Amino acid sequence: MILCGNPFCSYEAQRAEIDAAVSRFFESHRYILGPEVSSFEQEFADYLGTKHTVGVGNGTDALCLALRACGIGRGDEVITVSHTASATAAAIVLSGATPVFVDIQPDVYTLDPSKLPAALTKKTKAILPVHLYGQPADMAPILAFARQHNLRVIEDCAQSTGGEYASQKIGSLGDIGCFSFYPTKNLGAYGDGGMAVTRDPALAESLRRLRQYGWDKSNISCEAGVNSRLDELQAAILRAKLPHLDNDNAKRIAIADRYDRELANAGPALPARQTNGQHVFHLYVVRSRQQKELLAHMKSQGVYVLAHYPVPTHLQPAYKNYAPKSGALAETERAAKEVVSLPIYPELTLAEQQQVIGAVRAFWKE
Ligand SMILES: *Cc1c(COP(=O)(O)O)cnc(C)c1O
Repeated sequence: MILCGNPFCSYEAQRAEIDAAVSRFFESHRYILGPEVSSFEQEFADYLGTKHTVGVGNGTDALCLALRACGIGRGDEVITVSHTASATAAAIVLSGATPVFVDIQPDVYTLDPSKLPAALTKKTKAILPVHLYGQPADMAPILAFARQHNLRVIEDCAQSTGGEYASQKIGSLGDIGCFSFYPTKNLGAYGDGGMAVTRDPALAESLRRLRQYGWDKSNISCEAGVNSRLDELQAAILRAKLPHLDNDNAKRIAIADRYDRELANAGPALPARQTNGQHVFHLYVVRSRQQKELLAHMKSQGVYVLAHYPVPTHLQPAYKNYAPKSGALAETERAAKEVVSLPIYPELTLAEQQQVIGAVRAFWKE
């Protein structure tokens, strides 16, 4: 069975370095917020070309604490997309704020900047674009709109670590960039982990307080923080993996190029690429009206494929109260019925890629 993503393969590929990192962690006798976390924070900052990085427990917390660090909460509105992992809206609701969903650009699946003016109200405090599937959102018009209306921009980079927009690493464009190190992500730990990054020292300080009980320097809680720390073990592993990230992303892109070539006339619509950015193919998402049939066919061929995401956030029970008026998210609802993610990860072998390609072609030949 070929899986959509496979963290064990990256362990096998980098076993010596990861094992050494795990031993170093045990020998250090430091478990929480020690030298591995601070070194990884520095290395990740250098990698992104940004100033401050704050390791947190997971990507959802990175987003929620980013909003809180910006002073956003109850009574405030945050413009985002519904076509994303439900974690995006979860983080907004966790912060106390209200998600306002806008539609996506159907070719690239990211926030449609032309929908921003209609979503703006007196309560709008931030825009939270999602760099989905490894593809950067179209940041130039989003940043321009935010500047014009004095809004914060918080980037959801969970699926796009290493991706670029206008030759800058994503996460370094807005006020705060939020990353997830969930095992299947482009830079994956072997457990949960996340990071919030910013140029702004005051936001960084606030993030550092919030991740640990709202403590000030003398361990007095000056605000109601949470416990959301990146742990030493995951940080040690991530330090071993970070030097491989660009090469791993290049392998993902090479697989995507191959799928593009081999499936050009096979049947499904293939993923478009933002012209002003570098897609890092967390997922390779094709599109077909016969989504259900294609999913079943691929599974019958030993290729485990999924739809990301089959139910838009605004149609899920927990978030349906935030659904805009019917028809406002037409592209989102259409995409949910048509998207299919093909397997893509750096260690996917040529034979496995060929099996995926063969299975897709066979579906339209039958
Ligand atoms: C994975 C993901 C998150 C959440 O990250 P966790 O580390 O699982 O909390 C948020 N947004 C998007 C788009 C994601 O894919």
